[in-house]
Amino acid sequence: MSTELIDTFGRVHKDLRISVTDRCNFRCAYCMPEEGMEWLNRHDLLSFEEITRVVKTLVDQAGLTSVRLTGGEPTVRARLPLLVEQIAALRTPAGDKLDLSMTTNGATLALIADDLKAAGLERLNISLDTLDRDRFIELTRRDELTRVLEGIDAAVAAGFSPVKVNAVLMNGINHDEVVDFLKMGREKNVTVRFIEFMPLDAQGEWSNDRVVPYAEILAAASEHFEFEPIERGSSPAERFRYADGGIDGSGGPGAEFGVIASVTEPFCGSCDRMRLSAEGQLRNCLFALGHVDLRTVLREGGSDQDLVAAVAGEVHKKWAGHAIGQVHFIRPSKSMSQLGG
Ligand code: SAM
Ligand code: SF4
Repeated sequence: MSTELIDTFGRVHKDLRISVTDRCNFRCAYCMPEEGMEWLNRHDLLSFEEITRVVKTLVDQAGLTSVRLTGGEPTVRARLPLLVEQIAALRTPAGDKLDLSMTTNGATLALIADDLKAAGLERLNISLDTLDRDRFIELTRRDELTRVLEGIDAAVAAGFSPVKVNAVLMNGINHDEVVDFLKMGREKNVTVRFIEFMPLDAQGEWSNDRVVPYAEILAAASEHFEFEPIERGSSPAERFRYADGGIDGSGGPGAEFGVIASVTEPFCGSCDRMRLSAEGQLRNCLFALGHVDLRTVLREGGSDQDLVAAVAGEVHKKWAGHAIGQVHFIRPSKSMSQLGG
């Protein structure tokens, strides 16, 4: 019997973001402090078998069709391609493959992009916030810009399509790189997406005036390029296509860019996402203040029905949307890297 993961606003949940580790090889200033993060113990992390059981149960019995692996940095989890293989082998009751993707900082992709592709990963989002080496070092506290750029090339060469490059823009830091990013996207044939800075940094330094709003990003882009909006679908990004069809006119991934305006134009009304943290806490929203502990259900002998009931119960509690910028907004106690961004 199938259960619909539906909330009281009628949103049906089909997409699960899974953090496979809370650890990371970078220390992006807007995400983690340089030192002092407390890491989960190995036995506290869900095993690959536990993660796959959650996914399979929700696919078989609750309409899940889409899975994104994230972290922390997912590629620092040992033997990641094995997990990809296990999830990629699953089929929906209608016999379809899952939409299986991953978000990564890209630093190790030159080494593992081929293995991930062979294991069945379909799509890759690579996070990169600046194209300037000094800024990169300041932002990530690592000197890895070249490796990330090589990682983007490796992802394209491995056949991932589309490859998306996500840039979080922050006033006074990288707000002036919109056009450089768009040029890079066109040249490398990848879809660039700008993300508004959200109050999910571990240090709690977010403020509204650091956000580069959607409208400003579009204004900067339109000074250099001609483009038109395209159908958004279920994507959180407002999408645009260049009038010239991209650098070679072929209309590939580099012929498009997007803006994810989570702060100034939230898309909560069409959100179909749930998030599973590395230690098995399921949240119905990035900004949720509560969660349900699936690890306990898994490790105390819960049945598949118990798992579905736990997830359905949490989804049912989902609020209409986050309230960033309003007086009643409460910051979640966990940062993006701990939640599974
Ligand atoms: N380590 C991987 C990476 O960086 O792509 C995956 C995890 S990371 C937490 C997922 C995404 O969250 C990245 O694109 C990152 O830029 C974004 N992110 C982290 N902190 C953020 C914040 N405070 N506001 C907006 N996006 C944030
Ligand atoms: Fe690591 Fe990603 Fe957070 Fe940067 S944004 S510190 S790469 S988890």
